[in-house]
Amino acid sequence: MLTHGLVIGTLLLLSVLSFRLEALTAGGAALMFLMGTGIELAAGWRGLLLIFLFFATSSAASRWKKEEKAFLASILDKTDRRDWLQVLANGGPPLLFCIGYGSAGHLAFLYAYIAAVAAANADTWASEWGVLSKGTPRLLLSFRPVPKGTSGGATLAGTMAGLGGAALIGLSAFLLWYPVLSPQGAALAALLGFAGMLLDSLFGEVVQEKNRCRICGEETERKDHCGEKTVRVRGIPHFTNDVVNLLSVSAAGLLALLVKMLPG
Ligand SMILES: [Zn+2]
Repeated sequence: MLTHGLVIGTLLLLSVLSFRLEALTAGGAALMFLMGTGIELAAGWRGLLLIFLFFATSSAASRWKKEEKAFLASILDKTDRRDWLQVLANGGPPLLFCIGYGSAGHLAFLYAYIAAVAAANADTWASEWGVLSKGTPRLLLSFRPVPKGTSGGATLAGTMAGLGGAALIGLSAFLLWYPVLSPQGAALAALLGFAGMLLDSLFGEVVQEKNRCRICGEETERKDHCGEKTVRVRGIPHFTNDVVNLLSVSAAGLLALLVKMLPG
């Protein structure tokens, strides 16, 4: 009981701090506290520490060379201050896998949790580092070059960063739960996280909603631009970046669950 209280008290402090440091909006911080509490109760402090590793390194990556990323404000619907929808998209599927692990006690749910967190981390690292790279981003399917910051656009540097982000989560999980996880299982979860990141880019290219500014003509994810409402030019309505994230993080976890549930 004392440990639970201590960990959840620390989580509360970190949630308030994340709001004060403008890493999260008030809604984002409140949801982080609620979901983090759920993760701690279901999977213990190790589970909470793993997803906090994602949150802390991703927030740090967002701030790294922030002034060089200022142009993104024109393309993206979001700022580097994450709101509750982003917290839900990246943390919701991991929370559900943790609850599965806590109630069923089957290790497959733990691997699913690790793969989902690895996917979220890979995607954020890839976006944050890729946008700083000198290379021109290209779409995965059509290989068409796109402006930096475009959802679905991938650079070599960003992809390598994503691989590193997934590997960090796999390795950390292996060490945190030692000797519960097999090295092969942790590596597989990291690889599925990396695959989730690639899926995120594919969804970003094929189905994500893209808008165009009626004033300046720029393609953007924003609902308004130059003081006017934008019009949708591609993708499925309401299929925003948050939905794409939710789907790819879920897919990575579900794949791990499937692989680990299969007999043999
Ligand atoms: Zn405009």
